Amino acid sequence: MTLFVDMDEVLADTYLTHLDLYEEKYGVRLDLANCKGKEAWESVPSEHHDEVMKHAWQVGFFRDLKLVEGSQEVMAELDKKYEVYIASAAMQFPNSLKEKSDWLDEFFPFIPWQRRILCGHKYILKGDILIDDRAYNLESFDGRSIMFTSPHNMNMNGFERANTWDEIADKLL
Ligand SMILES: [Mg+2]
Repeated sequence: MTLFVDMDEVLADTYLTHLDLYEEKYGVRLDLANCKGKEAWESVPSEHHDEVMKHAWQVGFFRDLKLVEGSQEVMAELDKKYEVYIASAAMQFPNSLKEKSDWLDEFFPFIPWQRRILCGHKYILKGDILIDDRAYNLESFDGRSIMFTSPHNMNMNGFERANTWDEIADKLL
């Protein structure tokens, strides 16, 4: 079976880095509890929206992301059972291509380049399972769609959901 796994907000904690960069610049730590249902940029005062939206364009942003807890261990097990592909809409941020490749080399070396799809639209993907945090990617997928919980999607209903990598393990291993 073919399993596609998204990067940002699934393997890599992008949201956390937004909060870290915001704190570095403004000295204020945003409380995740107040971010439910909001993009990171929506969680800050309106005069700082642009600043947060520009984070992903900074050199090094995608290289320095922290792992989502448990992702490495469960991915290693999934890799034994499924044909696992990374699927990231990396072309949105062209500078991210090399950084994402290097990040995967460091944290997911068991997924070789042949199974890393750094792409545009994900509706082109045909396979059995997709794990992603974005409703628009999950809705267009023909197979089993699993929404990985992120602050921005917490209020969304209608998807099979996994809140943690332990829950992914329970579902798929
Ligand atoms: Mg994502």
